[in-house]
Amino acid sequence: MSTPPYQLNTEWLRRQLDPFPARKLLLDFDGTLAPFAVDRMSVNIYPDVLPVLERLNNNPRTRPTIISGRTIADLERLIPLTPLPELWGSHGLERRHADGSRADRPLTSAFLTGFHEIAQWAGTALPAEAVEHKATGIAFHWRGREAVEAAAMRERIDTEWSHHLEAFDMVCHEFDGGVELRFEKGTKADAVRVIRDESGPEVLLAYLGDDWTDEDAFAALNPPSLAVLVRPERRPTAAQLWLKPPEELATFLTIWGEFGDV
Ligand SMILES: [Mg+2]
Repeated sequence: MSTPPYQLNTEWLRRQLDPFPARKLLLDFDGTLAPFAVDRMSVNIYPDVLPVLERLNNNPRTRPTIISGRTIADLERLIPLTPLPELWGSHGLERRHADGSRADRPLTSAFLTGFHEIAQWAGTALPAEAVEHKATGIAFHWRGREAVEAAAMRERIDTEWSHHLEAFDMVCHEFDGGVELRFEKGTKADAVRVIRDESGPEVLLAYLGDDWTDEDAFAALNPPSLAVLVRPERRPTAAQLWLKPPEELATFLTIWGEFGDV
């Protein structure tokens, strides 16, 4: 294919990585390392990917960083890596360093008021399993529901809250299988920019993600750092490279780890 995102070419990838002895791998979790599941606390990293990821995590030169829309508390339960790598949760608002210390961003009182009102409404208006309370927003999930039912849920949320979001310091973010009303100051791109600035220009970054919320993270990378879409189907994206999980993802991670051995 002549336009990005390009399919994986292992020789091309090695040529991109070779000039950079210092690299940092940034990974989204849901849909990227782990396939989606209706029960969002029962997701597991692809069995073919987990051993490669464990190997990267056990080498200080290749230890990854995971950046997710989930809370850190969720990530700590779902990521079976020991020790846990650095984690960013709630779209860049929560940060757990690899040593376990935390550096979270403060929320506003307008947000806390809005969160409380929306949570109260959701408690009576929607099925409990569709509502996820996070530290920095409320997510509404309709994965697994009929399209008609999903559309009705979406409309109720919009009708009730779309005019209040600005006053609550909130925005509505679409994700694969729902929407999240969340604190407007967090995006995955914030996490990428902090890491990029801390790392310096000599460090090659790669960010791997699947969803629309990963697009701003892709855009926050400067070439030659790599933005990589991980998804069964190709789609328009700011990423340069497209990996079909799990096989191509496992191949990419294996090649990424090669330099850690020398
Ligand atoms: Mg994802």
